[in-house]
Amino acid sequence: MTVTVATLGFPRIGPRRELKTALESHWAGRSDAAALLATAADLRARAWARQRDLGADIVPSNDFSLYDQVLDTSVMVGAIPAIHGWKGGPVPLATYFAMARGSQGGPGGGHAHHEGCAHGHAHDGEGAPAAEMTKWFDTNYHYLVPEFAEGQRFALSSTKAVDEFLEARAQGIVTRPVLVGPVTFLKLGKSRTEGFDQRRLLPALLPVYAEMLRRLAAAGAEWVQIDEPCLVLDLDQTDRAALRDAYAALAGAAPGLKLMLATYFGALGDNLATALSLPVHGLHVDLVRAPEQLDAVVAGARPDLVLSLGVIDGRNVWKADLAAILDRVEPVAASGRALILAPSCSLLHTPIDLDRETALDPEIRNWLAFAVQKVAELAVLAKALNQGRDSVRATLEAASAAVGSRRTSPRINDPAVQARARQDDAALAQRGSAFEVRRAVQRDRLGLPAYPTTTIGSFPQTPAVRKARADHDRGAIGDADYEAFLREETARTVRWQEEVGLDVLVHGEFERNDMVQYFGEQLAGFAFTKSAWVQSYGSRCVRPPIIYGDVSRPRPMTVAWWRYAQSLTDRPMKGMLTGPVTILNWSFVRDDQPRSATCRQIAFAIRDEVVDLEKAGAAIIQIDEAALREGLPLRRGEWQAYLDWAVECFRLAASGVADATQIHTHMCYSAFNDIIASIGAMDADVISIETARSRMELLDAFAGYRYPAEIGPGVYDIHSPRVPAVDEMTGLLRAAARRLPADQLWVNPDCGLKTRKWPEVRLAIGNMVAAARAARAAA
Ligand code: GLN
Ligand code: ZN
Repeated sequence: MTVTVATLGFPRIGPRRELKTALESHWAGRSDAAALLATAADLRARAWARQRDLGADIVPSNDFSLYDQVLDTSVMVGAIPAIHGWKGGPVPLATYFAMARGSQGGPGGGHAHHEGCAHGHAHDGEGAPAAEMTKWFDTNYHYLVPEFAEGQRFALSSTKAVDEFLEARAQGIVTRPVLVGPVTFLKLGKSRTEGFDQRRLLPALLPVYAEMLRRLAAAGAEWVQIDEPCLVLDLDQTDRAALRDAYAALAGAAPGLKLMLATYFGALGDNLATALSLPVHGLHVDLVRAPEQLDAVVAGARPDLVLSLGVIDGRNVWKADLAAILDRVEPVAASGRALILAPSCSLLHTPIDLDRETALDPEIRNWLAFAVQKVAELAVLAKALNQGRDSVRATLEAASAAVGSRRTSPRINDPAVQARARQDDAALAQRGSAFEVRRAVQRDRLGLPAYPTTTIGSFPQTPAVRKARADHDRGAIGDADYEAFLREETARTVRWQEEVGLDVLVHGEFERNDMVQYFGEQLAGFAFTKSAWVQSYGSRCVRPPIIYGDVSRPRPMTVAWWRYAQSLTDRPMKGMLTGPVTILNWSFVRDDQPRSATCRQIAFAIRDEVVDLEKAGAAIIQIDEAALREGLPLRRGEWQAYLDWAVECFRLAASGVADATQIHTHMCYSAFNDIIASIGAMDADVISIETARSRMELLDAFAGYRYPAEIGPGVYDIHSPRVPAVDEMTGLLRAAARRLPADQLWVNPDCGLKTRKWPEVRLAIGNMVAAARAARAAA
């Protein structure tokens, strides 16, 4: 039986981020809908042709989206919140974007979403609010959360899936349309009514899916891919019953139409029997995250079930070891079962084309494969299976050589780093004394008032700051001028913090482009790309660093800026660092050793910086771990192992200093209930968290746990331009003091201020300082 090649989805932003440009121009009112839709159609046409030319036999459609595939699904089924005033019929483009961005969004998104803050959009002013946004499983892609009302009705409200199928067919390509599966869709959504279980909406939803399937079949589709990544999560009996009901209904919806049920991001595990029992024609499994499931899947699958094997990593950037994949797949192919080879998941999560990275070091480049290269790898694998390995001998050997050189290259292997990471002296991850002892020494040294005030690190990245950086990047201004500009910006910010009366100051982070990139660029073992963009949400793309080798810190990274800033004031100046877990979670990570091993190396590098800051005289050092929570595995049973090594890495980074040095950490989210013991185990002296919008309720987790150290619960929601009044913040401080001893509390915003504007920041921080003073006076 011939083995074929499929992709489950392709990056849609365009090789030059054409979609981003077109969207932002449309949102800014500079181009009309027709221009946007023409760009979108052109991108689709090129992506289909590209995949076919690379050797994909099965090319997806409806994987494209103007914003997000989950939002597309909400629109397809007519789940439009009432506030948008939609009265049925096709959903207008303006309504679509209003759901995505709020009805008054500015260019590029009116919401201040920034790294680490995986919360809903802020809503500025009047009009309808945007849907909440959250991470798609454990990726850095964000989807718009479907919102259901009780008694929610559904109706087919978009023909996008059919239209795009026909569009591709006109181009001569019969695609396999992709739909987000009904069970995953419902599970990802939320309801405004507390306690409402949206899975109860399934019977109302299924007829809409059935109708869509009938229309696709009528348009000429032979297969439809239905994505149910919820099958790799912990499911309960209700979920499993929902899956059985859903596929019983969909299997009979359009006679002759075949369904490819796609699972990805992990092992089916205890859901394997459920997946194999569903009446579908094909099943896609992720063999990159879960290679071990191949045998069980093959053993349990009906003989006529088409298996789609996700053998190429859709989540990472490395060239595959093609021969090793063949070793595993050949026996299955020999058994005569119908097989499809595919990436582990949609290629949405990889950059598009390595050929555009002309500036990358050639040796590193030879280790990489982006979306385009990955499709070509699949074509080679299929040819080897269909015509024998000899037919692609040279390519297989080149792939093995590339993988082999990653094992031995001196660029990757640094024996000193490896030896250091192997040390298992428990004292390395242990501060000199217990928190109570450290606290007394630090109080003596710092002499801070009750309710000490500080900020999280960054101050507004104004257009002038961004322009100076861009000018410097393209060589229009020299190092000295850029440096002078940054010093001036820093000095002004330090002066202003003194004037407004903050107790613990920061330098403002003007020299940083991004809280991970800034460090990655200075660490050994990291590579940076010019155009390897990956969609984060909507038009927003990120360029994650690539960690390819052993990580070390050749020289201090932040000490000079800290020293300069501290020289301007007598108040304590915080040293500001990004923590090892966050650096790991926001990078493409090497796949030749466990993530924990890479994280441990980063931890030692950050530790060196912490020690150098202390030597330079810093009394307070903050190590941000904005992404610690989002690294949690999808399966609950794997949480503790992750938390254990993540906490250990933080402690390794933080524990090289004396008792008198105060270690802060910052996490910009609000859900701590289920990980509070690990947060406690980090043993930071002070933690700042996001609480303004939850009205301090999340402090209950800390209170219940009797969290011993100091806490700065955010009193200023920095995701909105709104300036909180003094009263409002004193109210929040009172609410905090009801939950925790007042002498444990700090006063700070929810997160960094880089996305805000100075006029708001001046007023809001002024009010925050006044609120702290009021709280002191009342104590
Ligand atoms: N120190 C960083 C800042 O203030 C923290 C950012 C974050 O937590 N996402 O910008
Ligand atoms: Zn934050």
